[in-house]
Amino acid sequence: MADMRVLLIEDEKNVAGFISQGLRENGYEVDVIHDGGEAARRLGGAGYDLYIIDWMLPGVDGLTLIRSLREKKPGARILMLTARDTVDDKVQGLDGGADDYLTKPFAFKELLARVRSLLRREEEKDPAPLRVDGLELDPMQRKARAGSTDIPLSNKEFDLLLYLMKNVNKIIPREQIATEVWSVDFDRGTNYIDVYINYLRKKLKEAKACPLILTVRGRGYILKPEND
Ligand code: CA
Repeated sequence: MADMRVLLIEDEKNVAGFISQGLRENGYEVDVIHDGGEAARRLGGAGYDLYIIDWMLPGVDGLTLIRSLREKKPGARILMLTARDTVDDKVQGLDGGADDYLTKPFAFKELLARVRSLLRREEEKDPAPLRVDGLELDPMQRKARAGSTDIPLSNKEFDLLLYLMKNVNKIIPREQIATEVWSVDFDRGTNYIDVYINYLRKKLKEAKACPLILTVRGRGYILKPEND
């Protein structure tokens, strides 16, 4: 953990101070930028293990920064901070390339859990590609494709789809998805798993991938081959 470098882009100095101090106490190296314009100029430079980006920033807003960062560094791990808490806002943020979001105000413990989850690298004992119908996931390359169509997935979308494919034809409760994919305890008040599931469904549909992610009311989700 000692070598993990985090870039925090947050204009509220007390919030930035609280986050950076907490992360340093937990062994992370943290650089802080308070201005969106300055951040935009520096994003093309040296890479960080994780980017924490606030949405509302002076100069250039966080969503624009995330889009540009995603273009420059497709594998970047990005956590978005936002005071906006409607589902549409969050989906817009995830659409822009964030891997995860946290709504202000939040407890530091929650931030730390999200950070750990994003930095946790999938340790595959058997990194052979997984296949369900024509959908193929390569854990080594972190690539997904349906037939000859590449499916662009963010890190968390990839982790979620990987988990669903490993458990094909099994009903997986939300609690289990939260623990296994996000490394956090499930909070019934949040809907990030549903947001990600919908997002995956949309991307699979766009790529004409056959497996379906079904909702089993009151129980969870299941990934099924189409002709099962
Ligand atoms: Ca702000």
